[in-house]
Amino acid sequence: LVVVEHVEKHFGDLHVLKDINTTVNRGEVVVVIGPSGSGKSTLCRAINRLETIDSGKIAIDGVPLPEEGTALAHLRADVGMVFQSFNLFAHKSVLENVTLGPIKVRKLSRKAADEKAMALLDRVGVANQAKKMPAQLSGGQQQRVAIARSLAMDPKLILMDEPTSALDPEMINEVLDVMIGLAKDGMTMIVVTHEMGFARKAADRVLFMADGAIVEEATPEEFFTNPQSARAQDFLSKIL
Ligand code: ATP
Ligand code: MG
Repeated sequence: LVVVEHVEKHFGDLHVLKDINTTVNRGEVVVVIGPSGSGKSTLCRAINRLETIDSGKIAIDGVPLPEEGTALAHLRADVGMVFQSFNLFAHKSVLENVTLGPIKVRKLSRKAADEKAMALLDRVGVANQAKKMPAQLSGGQQQRVAIARSLAMDPKLILMDEPTSALDPEMINEVLDVMIGLAKDGMTMIVVTHEMGFARKAADRVLFMADGAIVEEATPEEFFTNPQSARAQDFLSKIL
């Protein structure tokens, strides 16, 4: 579904992505971990074309990422993105946050979009908050709305960049449970997270990045019990 080949990216003199190669198949859950500054967010943003790349190739469903225009809008609809900071539209209700994309981009009627949104809000456990504004919700509730919003576009793939790291501890599990449910339902996901419980339960593969490169690619079992590189051993000794 996602093919990344020889991707290179610089920010000025800083070489942030170094010959990145990976493939994500339909239904796979890939967890990306690694030290701060290793390029995890940049890689996610490149896959959604929120960031350009200097060279190499990224293709989704065999189609190279579009440069601009309506093709780009459709790519963004096909590739859901959930950020650390929720990024809900502050001046729209929870329900409107979820219906906006389907109405604008997928051309659903308001009624169809409302029904779909309510079903998704129910799935993530916040249907009773539909009429509220985002600021009236807890962080965990807001992040679940953000997940419902990306699901409303029927994405082929969802990218999540540290979706639980801005949350208070007691809210982390309610979001992780939703993520584990999605993984079990066969959603293709690329998730940047240091939640090792999620990686162990839901990931098919772990990508360990350091200094802009993929240093290890392994099953969670292999990676956590027997990391091969000194970088990964050192990283795991700090977070486990
Ligand atoms: P973290 O765990 O802290 O989120 P990360 O692995 O997601 O880190 P990135 O955000 O991808 O790392 O950043 C990789 C490197 O690129 C860092 O050194 C960062 O400072 C730099 N960087 C990221 N975005 C930009 C930008 N827009 N302009 C210049 N440098 C940037
Ligand atoms: Mg990051």
